[in-house]
Amino acid sequence: MKRVYNFSAGPSALPLSVLEKCAAEMVCYGDAGMSVMEMSHRSPAYDAIIKDAEKLLRKVMNIPDNYKVLFLQGGASLQFASVPLNLMTKNKKADYIVSGQFSGKALKEAEKYGDAKLVASSKDKNFTYIPKTTREDFRADADYVHICFNNTIYGTKFNYIPDTGDIPLVADMSSCILSEPVDVTKFGMIYAGAQKNVAPAGLTIVIVREDLIGNAREDIPAVMDYKIMADNDSMYNTPPCYPIYVAKLVFEWIESLGGLEAMKKLNEEKAAVLYDYLDSQDYYIAPVEKDSRSMMNVTFVTGDAELDKKFAKEADALGFKNIKGHRSVGGMRASIYNAMPIEGVKELVKFMDEFAKNNPKA
Ligand SMILES: *Cc1c(COP(=O)(O)O)cnc(C)c1O
Repeated sequence: MKRVYNFSAGPSALPLSVLEKCAAEMVCYGDAGMSVMEMSHRSPAYDAIIKDAEKLLRKVMNIPDNYKVLFLQGGASLQFASVPLNLMTKNKKADYIVSGQFSGKALKEAEKYGDAKLVASSKDKNFTYIPKTTREDFRADADYVHICFNNTIYGTKFNYIPDTGDIPLVADMSSCILSEPVDVTKFGMIYAGAQKNVAPAGLTIVIVREDLIGNAREDIPAVMDYKIMADNDSMYNTPPCYPIYVAKLVFEWIESLGGLEAMKKLNEEKAAVLYDYLDSQDYYIAPVEKDSRSMMNVTFVTGDAELDKKFAKEADALGFKNIKGHRSVGGMRASIYNAMPIEGVKELVKFMDEFAKNNPKA
């Protein structure tokens, strides 16, 4: 069977060469005589995999030595709680920018554990833009400021890094990690569920500055405590072994393409194919404000719910999969993560144009 163009928001497409390598090594990894899935996480063979994964991620993202890299379970959603339990402990205050559903959930979780404050939101326009903030918007004694860097559901992305002064900035980068270079030093912590741009579901990457570790609440579950996980090299308990292995292959793949600068260029080219088309016509509407557009998740509507439905159905039949927008937003969303080839986007635009001609609006 032919592989489709998979525009899923997550879990999402992985690079074909990575999948092929997984397949080749599936039954017997190296000279281990067993699959990576069957290996003890304490074995020398697996130890090399997880150490290489960390080394490669540090190199690709240029992560300074004073940051810990953790490979955890529980998804980004568990981090919504882990972040306040670990970091909202000094003044028990944290400031949140809510630019979509996930940052809203993160705020709600933090409210359980202390004084979590909504400092800026784009809810007034259904999250079609990224709120602008200045240092004065944040409380000087906040333990951290939390943002969601790329809003998967709405297709928006921060085009600036909020100036929080000395307050650590915590960013959920689940749907944009590794899509372009980021200056890690601007953040106290970055976290990301792997299933959008890195690996199969089950792995969550946490990159956290060392001075922020070790101040967790006493009643925190051990597996959520960054200090315990860091002191045990993410091996306090069984890590998500297989997703970490796939992540390592994806990091190698990014390196082979020329690293994140090259990745960014490819992603910009890809996103431009779609956005240039959207800007050149008036059949489809791209609801997101131009300066807040995501490079990874591109949302658009026809303005007619029935036509949207027809579009998604016909697209699916032609092999453009998972193009339907999030259930809370409707319309269409093309998620064009690292693994989506530019041909997929060009073919999609061709189809969009044909669909527009074949389905004139009343
Ligand atoms: C998918 C996603 C989440 C939720 O991730 P889970 O792994 O399902 O918990 C959180 N934040 C962002 C930005 C996402 O894209």
